[in-house]
Amino acid sequence: MLIRHAEVSGTRPLDVRVVDGVITAIAPALDAESGERVLYAAGGALLPGLHDHHLHLFALARAADSVSCGPPDVSTVAQLEDALVRSSAADVGSDPWIRGIAYHESVAGDLDRDRLDVWLPERPARVQHRSGALWILNSAGLAAIGVRAESETPPGVERDAAGRPTGRLFRLDAWLRERMGSSPLPDLTAVGRRLAEFGVTGLTDATVSNGNTELAALVDAVNRRALPQRLVVMGTRELGVPDHPDIERGAVKIVLAETELPTFDELVAEIASAHAAERPVAIHCVARSELILAAGALAAALVHPGDRIEHAAVAPPESLELVKSLSVTVVTQPNFVRERGDAYRVDVTPRDRSWLYRCRAFLEAGIPVGGGTDAPFGDPDPWAAMRAAVDRRTLGGAELGRDERITPEQALALFTTTAQAPGGAVRRVAAGERADLCLLDRPWADARETLDASHVIATFRDGVSIGAS
Ligand SMILES: [Zn+2]
Repeated sequence: MLIRHAEVSGTRPLDVRVVDGVITAIAPALDAESGERVLYAAGGALLPGLHDHHLHLFALARAADSVSCGPPDVSTVAQLEDALVRSSAADVGSDPWIRGIAYHESVAGDLDRDRLDVWLPERPARVQHRSGALWILNSAGLAAIGVRAESETPPGVERDAAGRPTGRLFRLDAWLRERMGSSPLPDLTAVGRRLAEFGVTGLTDATVSNGNTELAALVDAVNRRALPQRLVVMGTRELGVPDHPDIERGAVKIVLAETELPTFDELVAEIASAHAAERPVAIHCVARSELILAAGALAAALVHPGDRIEHAAVAPPESLELVKSLSVTVVTQPNFVRERGDAYRVDVTPRDRSWLYRCRAFLEAGIPVGGGTDAPFGDPDPWAAMRAAVDRRTLGGAELGRDERITPEQALALFTTTAQAPGGAVRRVAAGERADLCLLDRPWADARETLDASHVIATFRDGVSIGAS
């Protein structure tokens, strides 16, 4: 393939030749060889394909069949009622369950079974909090999974003072899945296509429960080209080594939850055991206390190459020093500034508001920073995340963490470093490099002003087109 008249690293027009998935030549004018496919870029920027360093593929696929129960789609009790009641009237198909996602208290306060029963008296329903840490079931849902007042249940099943289950299930994804009976993992074709349209050629799945069942399904999806991106798969300690050249095993994911933090020694032991198995760790830290605990435990266990902190949602100055001294990578989600910023401006204590989803402070401290969207908990469009990293604007138009603004080039870099080293060296469009590419409809000098996904006109992985608009 010959891409004509592209802009590469700010220079144009240049012709770019790709042979067998590798860029072989870049020059002002290359002659097309016989039979070579020629594509005219018309001066558009040819960028490295984007890598989303943190998302959840199966959950993203399931989100398509779910009812959105939170902002920005649903912001009031009336809208929530409307969305749920409408979904309960829809065709049951093979699955009687109603699945809600993205719930947040700003819509209707704390939900429990009784409140859901008013809207959904018959069909079993489960609504996920947007943190991913809580499911709320209605009474029909609890009955369907066999939870009664007298049932033996794990500690995450909340009960009221009288011992009656409230319908609120904390951090019980795996248990809930087991009780619901194994529903097959969803097909990833639509997800792969959608991400390719954003220019995404690589993905890191950061799901804590990923085991060998999920891995086999991912290998299958990549083999069938249902998922055209290359992958890094994080997950459990038990996760095997993928037998596929385009799929790598990633870190052991450790989720910290402020309400039930492990002891310092427990966390050190968990990290050390992953390291002993030659696996880095990726520690989910949202609250300030979680970040301090994780940083301390990493220091005690000694950092292994590839160790990461996911989110670092609240990073006060003292934690910055700690993280810097460790030389671990932070993988952040600037898109949450946009998507959740209006709620943060109400819920987060003023002293923490300036430390939310920081970018610039990390970069200035010399801490490697990678970007992920956390889809489906965040919008999967990495361009929207880049925009938020640059303008720090909430959906409501307010500014959040103005001092954390970064340049469009720094924002692009969040998504264009290698899968193995988020925040490391940015991949280049150069001879000898793999042809994982994203072509824009305009030069970078224009595209940087808007950072809009609509400017992506073609996406190539190993030189093969996987998405175009
Ligand atoms: Zn996540």
